[in-house]
Amino acid sequence: MIYLKRVSIWKDGNYKKFSKLDEDKDVDLLIIGGGITGSSLLYHLKKSNLKVLLAEQNRVGYSVTGSSTGKLNFLQNDLIDSIRNNYNDEVARLYLKSQMDSIRKIVEVINKDNIDCDIKKVNSYLYTNKDNEIDKIKEVKKFLSESGIEVFDGKSDLVKSKYMIYVEGTYVFHPIKFIHGLIDDCDNVYEKTSIKKIEKRGEKYICHTGRNVIKTKYVAVCSHYPFFNIPFLFPIKGSLEKSYLSACKSRVNPISLISYSKPFISIRTHKNYLIYLSNSDSLNKCTDDKKNFGELCKKVSDLNINPDYLWSNIDIMTNDCLPYIGKIKDNMFIATGYNTWGLTNGFSAGSIISDILMNRDNEYVKLFNPKRVNAIKYLKTITDIYENISGYVKGFNSSNKSIKKSKDGKSTLKVHGSSLSNKCPHMGCGLIYNCIEKTFDCPCHGSRFDIKGRCLSGPANNDI
Ligand SMILES: Cc1cc2nc3c(=O)[nH]c(=O)nc-3n(C[C@H](O)[C@H](O)[C@H](O)COP(=O)(O)OP(=O)(O)OC[C@H]3O[C@@H](n4cnc5c(N)ncnc54)[C@H](O)[C@@H]3O)c2cc1C
Repeated sequence: MIYLKRVSIWKDGNYKKFSKLDEDKDVDLLIIGGGITGSSLLYHLKKSNLKVLLAEQNRVGYSVTGSSTGKLNFLQNDLIDSIRNNYNDEVARLYLKSQMDSIRKIVEVINKDNIDCDIKKVNSYLYTNKDNEIDKIKEVKKFLSESGIEVFDGKSDLVKSKYMIYVEGTYVFHPIKFIHGLIDDCDNVYEKTSIKKIEKRGEKYICHTGRNVIKTKYVAVCSHYPFFNIPFLFPIKGSLEKSYLSACKSRVNPISLISYSKPFISIRTHKNYLIYLSNSDSLNKCTDDKKNFGELCKKVSDLNINPDYLWSNIDIMTNDCLPYIGKIKDNMFIATGYNTWGLTNGFSAGSIISDILMNRDNEYVKLFNPKRVNAIKYLKTITDIYENISGYVKGFNSSNKSIKKSKDGKSTLKVHGSSLSNKCPHMGCGLIYNCIEKTFDCPCHGSRFDIKGRCLSGPANNDI
C-alpha cells in the first residue's frame, strides 16, 4: 500500500499537452470535450473542409474515458437483454451490430495509423454466480448464436461462477493512448479551455470560455453530462452510476470478464496488471467511498494481489439503455449516455455525427436519435428525479468532518488549510469529500474537484 497511486493507471503517463485558447475564433464546428467522443468526432472530420475546433476544459482523455477499464467488447453484461426487453430483437440486433462495427473500425484505425495503444485481442467472458441468472445467460448465448456469433461455455479461476460464456474477437486497449493517437497531429485542440455559456445569435452560436469567444455554425456537445439543462433536459433523461477500480501487479493470462448484473465485477488484464472493478451502484448511493474502496481491496486481496492504483469512475445510464447520439436542435449535436460502454459508442458517435454533418447516410442515426420518445422512460424518470433530490440532500447532510461553518454562517470545506464553498458550482448540490482519491465529489451529477477546488470533471464548468 506504500506505493499506492490514487489515480487511474491510464493517467500515469506522459501525454502531449495542448495549449489553452487565448484568442477569439470563428469556426464551422465547435466540439466541446476531448474524451473518446469529441476526439473521435475530430478524427472523423480531419479530411473534411470544415473548420473545426475542439475545446477541452481539463486535459484530453482525463475524465471518464481515462478512468474506464478500456475494453472493446460487445458482450455487454445485461445491456443487450435490457434493450430486447425495452424494444425488440431487431433493435437489440442493430445495437449489437453497431458495437461490432465500432470495434472493427477502431482496430482498422489503430492498424492504419499505427497507433501505439497496447491493443490486445482477448476473449470476453460473461458470467453469473446467481441461480436465477443462469437461464438469462443461456438466452444471451442463444440470441448471439442466432445473430451469427459463435459463443462458447467457459470458466475462470478469477471469480466464483455458476455459469460462464465467452466470445472471441474482442479487445482491450489503453484509452488515453488511443485518443492521443487519434488527435495528437491536430493543431485545433485546446486544453484548459472550458465552454461556460452558449448563445444563439442569428445563424451562429456564440460560445464563451470566460476569456474568449468562439463563433461557430455547429456545436457538438461531447462533454459527457451536458453542463446545460435546456434544451435537452438531461437530468430527467439519464442517471449516473459509479464504480470503484484497482490495478494490481499480477501474472494472469490475458482475459476480459464481466458479471451479468449488479453489483458488477469487471476484470481485464493490462501487461502485468490485473484491473478489477467492483461496487458499482447509482451515484447517489455511492457516498461512502472509504467503505467501497475497502470492499474492493478485500476482493483483490482474496486473489492474493494488492492494489498499485485505486480510482473511481462515473458513467451515464439512459432510461431505455440506448445512447443519445445526434441532433438536439438546429445545428447542435449531442453524444452521451453510453451505459458504461462508451469506448465503442463514443467512437461510433464520432462517425455518426460526422456523417450527418457531411450529408452521408449512417444506419445508426435513427437508433440513437436523442429526441426519441419511449414510454418506459417516463416511469424511470420519477426514480431519477428522486435520486437527484436525495443526492442533493445527502450532500447537504454530509457528516463529513471537513465541512465547517464559516463566520458568515456559510458551509465551507476545510482541507489542507484551504477554505472552499461546499456547494457544487453546477447546480448547488452539497459536495462530499472522497478521502481515498482526495477529491470533492457531487452526489447529484458527478462533478469532481481537487482539494484546491479545481474542477476535474463536469458537468460543472467552473472551479469551486
Ligand atoms: C468504471 C467505468 C468503466 C468503464 N469501462 C468501459 C469499457 O471498458 N469499455 C467501454 O466501452 N466503456 C467503458 N466505460 C464507459 C466509457 O468510459 C464512457 O462512456 C466514455 O468514456 C465517455 O466518453 P465521453 O467522451 O462521452 O466522456 P469523457 O471521457 O468524460 O469526455 C468528456 C470531456 O468533456 C470535457 N468537458 C466537460 N464539460 C466541458 C466544458 N464545459 N467545456 C469543455 N470541455 C468540457 C471533460 O473534461 C471531458 O474530458 C466505463 C465507464 C465507467 C464508469
